[in-house]
Amino acid sequence: PLSARLIVVSNRLPLALKREDGKWRFEAGSGGLVTAMGPVLKNRGGIWIGWPGNREPIELPLLRQILGPVSEESGYRLLPVILDEGEVENYYEGFANAAIWPLFHDLQTECLFHPRHWEAYGKVNGRFARVAARHSDREDLIWVHDYHLMHLALKLKERAVERRTAFFLHIPFPPPDIFLKLPWRYEVMEGLTAYDFVAFQTMRDRQNFQACLRAFWPSSRVRGRGPVVTVGRDEGDIVVGALPISIDFAHFEALARSPKAVQTCEELRKAHRGRKIFLGVDRLDYTKGILQRLEAYGRLLEGQETLRESVVFIQILVPSREGVEAYSRLRDEIERAVSRINGRYATTGWTPLSFFFRSLPSDELAGFYRAADVAVVTPLRDGMNLVAKEYCACNTDGDGVLVLSEFAGAAGQLAKGALLVNPHDVEGLARTLVAACDMAREEREKRMIRLRRAVRRQDIFWWVDNFLRAAAGRALRDFPPD
Ligand code: UDP
Repeated sequence: PLSARLIVVSNRLPLALKREDGKWRFEAGSGGLVTAMGPVLKNRGGIWIGWPGNREPIELPLLRQILGPVSEESGYRLLPVILDEGEVENYYEGFANAAIWPLFHDLQTECLFHPRHWEAYGKVNGRFARVAARHSDREDLIWVHDYHLMHLALKLKERAVERRTAFFLHIPFPPPDIFLKLPWRYEVMEGLTAYDFVAFQTMRDRQNFQACLRAFWPSSRVRGRGPVVTVGRDEGDIVVGALPISIDFAHFEALARSPKAVQTCEELRKAHRGRKIFLGVDRLDYTKGILQRLEAYGRLLEGQETLRESVVFIQILVPSREGVEAYSRLRDEIERAVSRINGRYATTGWTPLSFFFRSLPSDELAGFYRAADVAVVTPLRDGMNLVAKEYCACNTDGDGVLVLSEFAGAAGQLAKGALLVNPHDVEGLARTLVAACDMAREEREKRMIRLRRAVRRQDIFWWVDNFLRAAAGRALRDFPPD
């Protein structure tokens, strides 16, 4: 039933626990998912299970003492799963972030396949499953998030714990020719098929998954049509869905009108008066196409002398996964690319690239979104990409341009308003950046109306509601809207 109690399980709890000067401190999570799940968990008396993100060991009683008041305040229980240093290295940084993350983003060359990582993945998934089993009963729905926990339902089955389970994959699912390179390909598929309901961001991801199902279970057949279908197999049916995640539109729209955002926007416009502002906002990650984007901007400056000094590119990079070697290497490469461009084209009154390597508070970020004439969102592959949607929600002046990679999940919903690009085609991207600069106001406004409508209609509340409907075997609501 739709009113079943909800047990949410994700790798991370919606807070960050840190130790500073010998004292434990935590910061409450603030993402769209937390905002959307909050009311549902509260109304249904739910629980959120996850790792609090601490790298230093902490005693369980102390941890419970810290989480108690947080649970009280959020209106639902937060249950911690403790990981030791070796587990963080092998399960989280190893299997999840150095094998599954690159493989599922089609970047096989970045993949590290290590039996030790796989072993830790199984063990940690087993621990999450034990906690979920202990704190739930047969009536509850266990909703598992993302690639860190693909094996949780299977671990429940192995312990003969009967539960209703649903899984959402936030990242892409690769086609068989890539997926089949995984040494533990059968095990991962077996894990995913142990869920009653498995959902992906886009139709493409869902179809890739179905193709992999056929590779292992050739007799599997799809029944039904639309975003949610049933795959029949001799070994048991699975319901699979394509449900694009989103943001809290109203929250971002309000943020863009907050005093801090207005001030930031004004300061940026003043500092770059008379210039078109390009904006990139990304976690530092090799899937985001940052180097290709910078190269395209360099080509633009090279080929369009008249545009020099009348454009500026602001790139915000949020530090990420600093424990993984590939990420520190990428940071060096990006810093070199930035200084190459600035060194080559800067003039006494103009710096072509402005680079921030840190995370910004969300109201300040909203000011950057609002000030930007063109958002450049060009991942090589991305499950969804929330930055693209946040830009639209914050574009309250209604005349910004979104340049969007066709390989971002968001391209499906935003195709009508965005300028779609192939991020590997550096020349093409440079041309699109010029076209974005030259676009007439009327055209920009027409496109932004479509973009904002799409994000407003299919926001995070719409997504949670439809996910729960699909998991309960109900019809979807407002899907697709047009
Ligand atoms: N973000 C942030 N601080 C910043 C810049 C961005 O917290 O300084 C957030 C941004 O608002 C967005 C998220 O980081 O919600 C990035 O999500 P996205 O889906 O675009 O990519 P991911 O990082 O999940 O791969």
